[in-house]
Amino acid sequence: MPTPTNLTINASRLWDSLMELAKIGATAKGGVCRLTLTDLDKEARDLFASWCKAAGATISVDRMGNVFARRAGRDPARAPVMTGSHIDTQPTGGKFDGAYGVMAGLEVLRTLHETGVETEAPIEVAVWTNEEGARFAPAMMGSGVFTGIFKEDEIKAKTDRDGVSFGEALAKIGYAGPEPCGGREVGAFFECHIEQGPILEADGKTIGVVTGGQAQRWYEANLTGQESHAGTTPMERRRDALLGAARLIDMVNHIGITHLPAARATCGVIEAQPQSRNTVPGRVFLTVEFRHPDEVELKTMDETFRAQAARIASEIGLALDIQEIWHFPATPFDADCIAAVRAAAQSRGYAHRDIISGAGHDALYMARVAPTAMIFVPCADGISHNEIEAASAGDLAAGCQVLLDAMLHRANAPG
Ligand SMILES: [Zn+2]
Repeated sequence: MPTPTNLTINASRLWDSLMELAKIGATAKGGVCRLTLTDLDKEARDLFASWCKAAGATISVDRMGNVFARRAGRDPARAPVMTGSHIDTQPTGGKFDGAYGVMAGLEVLRTLHETGVETEAPIEVAVWTNEEGARFAPAMMGSGVFTGIFKEDEIKAKTDRDGVSFGEALAKIGYAGPEPCGGREVGAFFECHIEQGPILEADGKTIGVVTGGQAQRWYEANLTGQESHAGTTPMERRRDALLGAARLIDMVNHIGITHLPAARATCGVIEAQPQSRNTVPGRVFLTVEFRHPDEVELKTMDETFRAQAARIASEIGLALDIQEIWHFPATPFDADCIAAVRAAAQSRGYAHRDIISGAGHDALYMARVAPTAMIFVPCADGISHNEIEAASAGDLAAGCQVLLDAMLHRANAPG
């Protein structure tokens, strides 16, 4: 029996599998369109399952269509050490978002299978249903139900733009499995993912040791002034809601800048009424979102925003209504899982740095029920959710190697 250390993943096999998977739903511009619960999604799931079976794993499917490939451990009583991600894509998606995390898990299974190495805890590779949220909203449905954040029946009733329900689409592709979704112990969860941002590439790092996900607060703001004639209303008598929105947008941007490097501040939607070029705008709807890994900092941003927005509104004579419509808490990952990722990157000699996840991932939900960490690798120019999304075979292999090492650390830790 080989000792489960210094196992090396097969970089070209990982790359070839990613390229093979990317043929399913391949677009003319080199990307992938494989929306969740379509025939293409079924084809990709079938391929993944056949590869895992060939690597000695057994497949189970739960009632949300989440697929689990399990490799037995020496101690069947131990909770599995799990990895995984998603194989659905955006309509103009790339080859790596999600697919990388699943193929990296497959490569872990294959490496263990071909070397005959046993682990104490079982190893599982998960394919989470509908991470992207492109066809059915919200995103991260499979992991969301698994972790008790969403209710299964409510999610299954969600419909796409053609009126097809999630439940119908799931049954149609034959992936409405028999297993209950969630409610079982997971010993640890790791997810490999491309960074989807520019930080690792700019910093010349191969591995991002992801320490958690940032908190988010989303708002809807309504500014109400008075519509009036653009030619006859003197400047000092105007109650221009769009002017208020302009100052508010600049203020929101300023809040982001004053809480750097970690803060993000964005106004994404603005609607001014009555949309007439010779009427002073009387009403504006505006969306605002703040993100920060530290809840205390985010609270400060929230308080500054509310105080400054009130000042701007009163200066221009506007009524102001701000509703916070969503608050996603900061998600710190597990200290031991993070340390396992960092130690693996260190011992393999990969340039690495700590990083916060700016985007949503299945791992952020899994962190609520299991010790969790993520491994990021660079993507070209930080571009993702785009057909030109690219990552190097070397970086992808490095992330997969770190994944294997970190999973072995957890799977063989004293139980
Ligand atoms: Zn993803």
